[in-house]
Amino acid sequence: PQRTRVTPPVAEMIRILGLGDRMVQVPPDIPLFVFRRGKLRQVPFRPGDLLRTDLLTVGGKLRLLFEPFTGPYRRGETVGEFLTRKFGREAYEGVMGPLFGGLYGSDPGEMYVRHSLAETMGSFGVSKSIMGGFLLGRFNRAATPPATSFTNGMQEFTDAMAAKLGERLHLGLGAIGLRPAGKGGASGWIVTTQAGDERHYDEVVITIPAEPAAALLAPVSEETARRLDHLRYNRLAMVHMVGECDLHGLGYQVGYGEGLRTRGVTWNASALGRDGVYTAFLGGARDPGMLERTDEEIGETARTEFEAVTGCRARVVAVNRTRVPSWDRSWEALEGLELPPGLHLCTNYESRVGIPGRLGRTRALAAALAAAASGAT
Ligand SMILES: Cc1cc2nc3c(=O)[nH]c(=O)nc-3n(C[C@H](O)[C@H](O)[C@H](O)COP(=O)(O)OP(=O)(O)OC[C@H]3O[C@@H](n4cnc5c(N)ncnc54)[C@H](O)[C@@H]3O)c2cc1C
Repeated sequence: PQRTRVTPPVAEMIRILGLGDRMVQVPPDIPLFVFRRGKLRQVPFRPGDLLRTDLLTVGGKLRLLFEPFTGPYRRGETVGEFLTRKFGREAYEGVMGPLFGGLYGSDPGEMYVRHSLAETMGSFGVSKSIMGGFLLGRFNRAATPPATSFTNGMQEFTDAMAAKLGERLHLGLGAIGLRPAGKGGASGWIVTTQAGDERHYDEVVITIPAEPAAALLAPVSEETARRLDHLRYNRLAMVHMVGECDLHGLGYQVGYGEGLRTRGVTWNASALGRDGVYTAFLGGARDPGMLERTDEEIGETARTEFEAVTGCRARVVAVNRTRVPSWDRSWEALEGLELPPGLHLCTNYESRVGIPGRLGRTRALAAALAAAASGAT
């Protein structure tokens, strides 16, 4: 991750860790762009900008006015279907699809609203009309929590957490086995580590990706393992480049149908004061074939497309690959999931993916476990 929104759980963690003076904040009014109809166009976040924007045609803007007359999302509706029904195809393919899908590296046409967008709308305080929320300024970024990184990047955050935990944290110990200490886990759980030692815990919080979690849980609950195995992950490539230019903005997403392989580019240079650094994202659910290519090919695609879009000459410094939960239709497998007593999931496939979501969920689970423990003594 490159930055996090400073929501209340994030702010609290920054305070606990004493990292306030290490924050590098993203300017709240920094422009965000979408590459649409062959050029970069600024995304409107305030009601007045909507009239001026060239991101949508006049017809596309008029279509937005119908939104208050459309109904709420339906149970089986995907984000793509929902946004197209509410705002029209132009707004979906040109703006909303790329922006929302970019958060997940996924395809909104394959993501159910009930698993993803519904919660996002709730976090913006929007329950009925999205346009109504927009006109009330709910999407104005100056009104939402600011985004931040730290002087030496996001790793400072996790390093500080590790330092705070001190000897209570054991790193580098892969968990390879899990079994109940007594019948059904009533007396806690025994975790076996790669080093071969066994540790007894009253409660086990599983924070690892779905695939290794399924392997760990298979001997305990075949049903849970089967469900976790069902979840699809998308493969993403990140290409870090150094540009010989001074672009101002947060970056851009690429509108659907523009003929580029790049999904989006973050301008760390101007967003976070990182000298000349630009990070492109390729692949994801809409272009899985990209990840079949070599690092050199992926880097070259990112560089040439970035130069064509921005006019900024760049060189590739690193190509990384990762996998991210797709939050697509396969998430039906998690509905109604119940873990055996004493086992908990706290992951980016069970609750929201971003760092604010991760910390919010962690805080709530920690509070519930602490309350249960104090009630038990
Ligand atoms: C490219 C990219 C950019 C992102 N950018 C942002 C951003 O700007 N802002 C934001 O808020 N979010 C961002 N996110 C999302 C966010 O970073 C992740 O959702 C979040 O880091 C997930 O944290 P996690 O601890 O739940 O899971 P993970 O980070 O996946 O951690 C799981 C850990 O489990 C370990 N593990 C696996 N198997 C075992 C085992 N058997 N035993 C022990 N350990 C094991 C792994 O090594 C790993 O360290 C981004 C994600 C990606 C991929």
